[in-house]
Amino acid sequence: MIGMTRAHMADPHIVRKIMAGQETDIRPCVGATYCLDRIYQGGDALCIHNAATGRELTMPQDIEPADVVKK
Ligand code: SF4
Repeated sequence: MIGMTRAHMADPHIVRKIMAGQETDIRPCVGATYCLDRIYQGGDALCIHNAATGRELTMPQDIEPADVVKK
């Protein structure tokens, strides 16, 4: 589990997607270490590949579809 920390930061739905056989939908951790750099500089652990990680109070991980579809 320790080795999966960043994988869960990049995609908190990784376990559900694996159980559902949707491995190709997983947003992978790309190993950019932006999250670690932020922590070492005293900031929040944000993710370069998932804008909602670390911002869940204002940006939820699950976003409802819009009522009106835009192009
Ligand atoms: S910032 Fe980069 S290394 Fe850290 S979890 Fe996100 S994709 Fe992975």
